[in-house]
Amino acid sequence: VQGPVTVTVTGAAGQIGYALLFRIASGHLLGADVPVKLRLLEITPALKAAEGTAMELADGAFPLLQSVDISDDPRVAFDGANVALLVGARPRTKGMERGDLLEANGGIFKPQGAAINEVAADDIKVLVVGNPANTNALIAQAHAPDVPAERFTAMTRLDHNRAISQLAAKLDVPVTAIKKLTIWGNHSATQYPDLFHAEVNGKVAAEQVDEAWLRDTFIPTVAKRGAAIIEARGASSAASAASAAIDHVFTWVNGTAEGDWTSAAIPSDGSYGVPEGLISSFPVTAKDGKFSIVPGLEIDAFSRERIDASVAELGEERDAVRGLGLI
Ligand code: NDP
Repeated sequence: VQGPVTVTVTGAAGQIGYALLFRIASGHLLGADVPVKLRLLEITPALKAAEGTAMELADGAFPLLQSVDISDDPRVAFDGANVALLVGARPRTKGMERGDLLEANGGIFKPQGAAINEVAADDIKVLVVGNPANTNALIAQAHAPDVPAERFTAMTRLDHNRAISQLAAKLDVPVTAIKKLTIWGNHSATQYPDLFHAEVNGKVAAEQVDEAWLRDTFIPTVAKRGAAIIEARGASSAASAASAAIDHVFTWVNGTAEGDWTSAAIPSDGSYGVPEGLISSFPVTAKDGKFSIVPGLEIDAFSRERIDASVAELGEERDAVRGLGLI
């Protein structure tokens, strides 16, 4: 990557944005030698807070950070963007129905998709972090018909990292001993962290833990980690989410290591029984700025059931946004 690279962050004044922007400015998103121009998109009431963050970014005197611009207009913020991190979203609040949540997010991701279509750079790469991330990505993609569909992705890298960390702790090995971990499906409680293809020091991970731990401890711990952090910290897992967003884009741009893969929610090509077009998490490799689904893995009944359940949920979310006329 040469640069400078224009990176747009939405919801920039939020908690994740606060952790994310400093990592981008210090060169972790793309590489330690790639200059960056930052664009911060916020809703109008949060512009002042975004300005405060921009003041702190200036105070960091980051050698790679060429500029910071703030706007509440997606057509300004995405102008010439090479990378878009869509963090700002409408969170689910108590008593909110799923339809209301999807509709509120449609109001955010529809215009952002349209603006990306119109003004972003030809090589735009989009990562959606704001929840429901997979379906928000689908909404944005539907309104960007001129952008190749595979440029719209959603984040399951935090789930991936959490799974690696839990497994490494269980087996008392460094995280670097673990390869080929996969998160399948939706970034939600139905996600499926797969240890049947993961390797620990080259050996199948599932064979090194007992099935009860895998089923009753590992899977729910990974899926419910966000709630556990809110319980412990009194605030959501913003820094680890930001760190995972950095990992997702860094891998997308710089590639996966030989003999390993990662997890990302990308548009399905029909692989593994996931309906074409759904933005679902898969085992993926990255090369030359493109993700590819790892082909040919055997899926046993235990995994099949869990992948199918999560994918079914994605299908329901897609049907719901279709029903609302959002895609
Ligand atoms: P955060 O920065 O903490 O979170 C932003 C989004 O990331 C939420 O949708 C949240 O979903 C999601 N998320 C994904 N993974 C995680 C994770 N592991 N931990 C926590 N969140 C995760 O929210 P804030 O409320 O602090 O900030 C949001 C900002 O977005 C505000 O400044 C708001 O003004 C802005 N915004 C901007 C918009 C725009 O630019 N057009 C539109 C809407 C909002 P979940 O809540 O489900 O955890």
